[in-house]
Amino acid sequence: MKNIVLFGAPGVGKGTHAGILAEKYDLLHLSTGDLLRGEVAQGTPLGLRVKASMERGDLVGDDVVIALVDKALASTEQGIILDGFPRTVQQAQALDFLLRNHRRKLSCVISIDASRDELVRRIHERAVISGRTDDADDNVIRHRLEEYDAKTKPVTDYYKVSGLLVSIDGSGEINQTSMRLCKVVDMLLSGNV
Ligand code: AMP
Repeated sequence: MKNIVLFGAPGVGKGTHAGILAEKYDLLHLSTGDLLRGEVAQGTPLGLRVKASMERGDLVGDDVVIALVDKALASTEQGIILDGFPRTVQQAQALDFLLRNHRRKLSCVISIDASRDELVRRIHERAVISGRTDDADDNVIRHRLEEYDAKTKPVTDYYKVSGLLVSIDGSGEINQTSMRLCKVVDMLLSGNV
């Protein structure tokens, strides 16, 4: 059973590519952003707690997302593809703990890379169809990218040490990035990563 983390900055296309890989390799697509937006849309106590942070482009508390991932892992026997988690070193440490508890092992962390200009361009493009308020405001976009640089990027060092990190170029068209990702997953399935 494969347990993959898809890693990268806001706008790089984690959601799109996690969806494609989930479908192709029969994995459960687990997006903490989608789970949180679901809570906000339903007006649950958790949703009310995180709404303002998400609108500002702040990360929500580690405890909140760790609990969501724990619950999701408890509900499935399927391999998973994580999108948007972990986003802090503390979340990465918690993921190790959760996977062990659920008798799983992290297979690989695939980082999708693209330039800052390209990320901003894609977020603007997505704003037209996503209806996400955090995609529509330039100050919020800038803040999300600052949060990424300050808190999320250091997660790559955590995984470099464990030898689980593979980086791919995500600057081109969706199908080019998708081919690169599938190559990594195919190698993983054949035991060569
Ligand atoms: P995303 O859909 O992954 O871009 O996430 C949208 C927003 O949800 C982020 O800007 C954060 O406010 C929140 N969020 C999603 N995943 C996490 C996470 N792992 N840790 C903290 N906040 C998160």
